[in-house]
Amino acid sequence: MPNSVYYWNLRSSLKAPYELRMKRLLKASGVNEHLGSGDMVAVKIHFGEQGTTGFLRPLWLRPLIAFLKKAGARPFLTDASTLYVGQRGEAVSHAMLAAAHGFDPLALGAPVIIADGIRGQHQQEVEVNGKHVRTAYIAGDIAQADLLVAVSHVKGHELAGFGGALKNVGMGCASKQGKMHQHMTTGPTVVREHCVGCGTCVRMCAAGALGLDKEKRVRLDEKLCVGCGACFLACRHNALQINWKTDVREFLERMMEYAAAVVQTKSKPCLYLNFVIDVVPDCDCMGFTDAPVCPDLGVLASTDPVAVDQASLDLVNQAPCLYQGALPKETRPGDDKFLALRPHAPRAMGLDYAEKLGLGTRKYKLIKV
Ligand code: SF4
Ligand code: SF4
Repeated sequence: MPNSVYYWNLRSSLKAPYELRMKRLLKASGVNEHLGSGDMVAVKIHFGEQGTTGFLRPLWLRPLIAFLKKAGARPFLTDASTLYVGQRGEAVSHAMLAAAHGFDPLALGAPVIIADGIRGQHQQEVEVNGKHVRTAYIAGDIAQADLLVAVSHVKGHELAGFGGALKNVGMGCASKQGKMHQHMTTGPTVVREHCVGCGTCVRMCAAGALGLDKEKRVRLDEKLCVGCGACFLACRHNALQINWKTDVREFLERMMEYAAAVVQTKSKPCLYLNFVIDVVPDCDCMGFTDAPVCPDLGVLASTDPVAVDQASLDLVNQAPCLYQGALPKETRPGDDKFLALRPHAPRAMGLDYAEKLGLGTRKYKLIKV
């Protein structure tokens, strides 16, 4: 049986502007039928790393917050700490960055609460019957919320290939320990001759796995590496590269098992809102935003995270190609754009496995609202 995915194609007018279009989309999703008075709703979002400009605009959330509040709920905007040492590695800098990026409680009507505490240690252990994960570590305030609304920016991702609802939930709602748990199959390959000994990666590596040798070239202690991937972002000289021999399949499977664990903490259906806007090659953690690979396409809503991600991918792949950025010139409309960008991570791997775990179905019915 296909699941419903509701879709607004971004058309609007004076009579039916953004707020009204979003209200229609949210109503169609049926999320308000499950909301109880006083329900705490975690609105999971990525506030954007410093330097990134492609993250979702704060004002786009206003109709959602108003909708949830009208139904009697108490929404809060949330994310959890990252493994890498950027502005989102602990709650104080993270909340300040959210404020700097315009996520203002007074403008939006909901506070920003970093869900895993000031140092990323506020977490809930969730038992899950996965192939790799038996105990998942979920950010405490997300686990304890009555309902989850995952608001996701659809885009590429350096390791996962694609980032949508499932990644926002599986990786994004995990605590620091949970993120480490998912990344434990990954780590860098050192290309020593590219290293200029600047030391940036050494300062970035929270696990203390990187150092400089006597010749001022980078040295990796594999036993200490937790595979967070922060050093790939740090090195401007391509001396630390993704180790393509790492098991991307296992990484994606772990991420899906974490998504299942998050969903398991909720007795009510979650809502997944995918913004297929500014579809860029890299995630919002990168500290920059490259040119998009296709035009802006719309906003999708569903209570099925697999269906909403599949529908988003299909829309992106069917869309015209924009070649001014990273997209290879031989890519044609209909080709898998994310696979063209990151051949190591066929997105179908993750979606197939999510379907097997019972998170949803790849069969969907796209309903325009
Ligand atoms: S950031 Fe790159 S160039 Fe600088 S020390 Fe690390 S590996 Fe070498
Ligand atoms: S060396 Fe390992 S632990 Fe250190 S930043 Fe790189 S991936 Fe993370």
